[in-house]
Order: sequence, then structure tokens, then C-alpha cells
Amino acid sequence: MRHLRMRWLLAACMMLGAPPVPVQAAQPAYLTSVLKVRQLHPDMYVIEGPANGEVPNPNMIIYVTGAGVVVVDPWFAVDYRHVVAAIRSVTSEPVRYVVNTHFHEDHSGANGEWPVGVVIIAQDNSRLHMLEKAMPGPPNTTFSDQLTLYLGGKTVQLRYLGPGHTDGDIAVYFPEWKTVCLGDLMAGTNGVTNPVVDYANGGTLAAWPRALDKSLAFDVAEVVPGHGPIVGRDGLVAHRDKVAAIAGSLRGWDKEGRTVAQIHDLLISTYGFKPINLAPLDGLVAEFR
Ligand SMILES: [Zn+2]
Repeated sequence: MRHLRMRWLLAACMMLGAPPVPVQAAQPAYLTSVLKVRQLHPDMYVIEGPANGEVPNPNMIIYVTGAGVVVVDPWFAVDYRHVVAAIRSVTSEPVRYVVNTHFHEDHSGANGEWPVGVVIIAQDNSRLHMLEKAMPGPPNTTFSDQLTLYLGGKTVQLRYLGPGHTDGDIAVYFPEWKTVCLGDLMAGTNGVTNPVVDYANGGTLAAWPRALDKSLAFDVAEVVPGHGPIVGRDGLVAHRDKVAAIAGSLRGWDKEGRTVAQIHDLLISTYGFKPINLAPLDGLVAEFR
């Protein structure tokens, strides 16, 4: 199962040039159990990806404003009814906004399942990628640089961070709790956060630290990564420094004339790269050549 899960994760989270891979026909076993909704703050909940980082589902935020719910990263279409049940377990307010941190299917696949009238939001480039790949539920609202939602006296700030994981990555910031959601600009696999660069869809490691710097321009106290444990500002700073160090190493290894096979091994031994991080190895080598 592990291998199958990894393939699914790779397909969902990267789509490296290939057309979107259909979600498994069979319902994943984890969805036969009730999704666990964890309260982060009185009006904010997270549905964590089961067994964080080992299966594709990202951390999903449920923000209850008093005038409707804001959902960040709604998982796959196959998950929709389970997600709605989980939301109903904490509030009867209708879902008003669904935000995609980027277009990958684990963050946007359920877009098309929400009732007409729900505002589905992503950055311009993310919508373009969904249209190119004929993915269901392309966002009905987009923005280029930033957009702010005001609902029930509460505020949610959406900001484009520039290319990194893809060319459509945004931060979703909740000033009330100084919480920022970063999508896969920060994503963990088995407890290690390392970059997964989707080169086929505008991703770049060289610009990734700059994107994280932009997210640090918010007054951040709490960081919700795309996958993996929620951390404080320090965790984000450490992640930013690590991504910058990886880029620096790749530049250095190229200057030293290392082979692709050597760089592969160095990324594992130096930074704990997992198969998902190594999938775009050729792109990583080419970008810093
Ligand atoms: Zn992704």
C-alpha cells in the first residue's frame, strides 16, 4: 500500500508535466473512519492529513466567521462528503469561501463539489493550470497579487508569494490569530520539510526562499504547512533557511562538477530528501547549472 500511496501522492502533488492522474477509484481506507477535526482557536479548526505527510491529504483550515465558513485546501473530490460532515460537526454555518493555496489536486480536487454560489478562489496561474489540464472546479474568482476577504467582522488576507512549489502559490493569513497557511511552500514528508519543485508548472527552487520571505512579512505566530505538523514562526524561519541552503548547495555541487548521481546521494545525506523531493532531480540540477 505504501508504494501505491506514494504514487498517488506524487501524482496529486506534482503532476510533473503529465496530465492529471485520476483519483483511485476505490475509496481510501482512512475515510472509512471519521475525520478528526482539531480546534486551533475558538473559531478555527484544522483537519490534518491522516498520518500527516504519508498520505496526500493536506492540512485543511476551517475558519468560522459568524457569517459563513472559509475553507482552505478542500482535498480531493472523493473526500468531499466526509469533509462536509467534519465541518458540520463543528458549525452549522454555510461554507462561503473555498481557497486553494495552489492548483494541485489534493488542494483543489473537491472544488467542483461545492454548491453553486460558493466562492472558489486561487491565484490567476493556478486557475490557468486547472483549465489547461481540464481539472474539475476551476476557481470562479482569481487574483494576481493580493485579495482580502471580510466576513462576519473577520479578515482573511490572500497574497501571491511568487513562484516556488508552482507559479501560483499563495499564503492565506488570518490576522486574528497571526496564523499563516503556506500550502506546499512548506510541506513535510515523514516529519521532514523539504521542497518539491513542480518545474512543469512554473516551480523554481531559486525563487522559493524569496517566496517564504514574503510570507514572513506577515506578523506570524502560527504556521500551517501544506502537509505536516503546525509550527511557530521559528519553524518557518528554519524552513526558509534550509531551502536557501539547499539552493546554495546545488550551486556549489555544480561548480565542483558533481554528477547527477552524486547530487542525488548528497541531497539524501545532507538534507534528508525523500523520493517525492527527488522526483524532479533533473530539474534541480538543470536549474543551478
Ligand atoms: Zn502541491
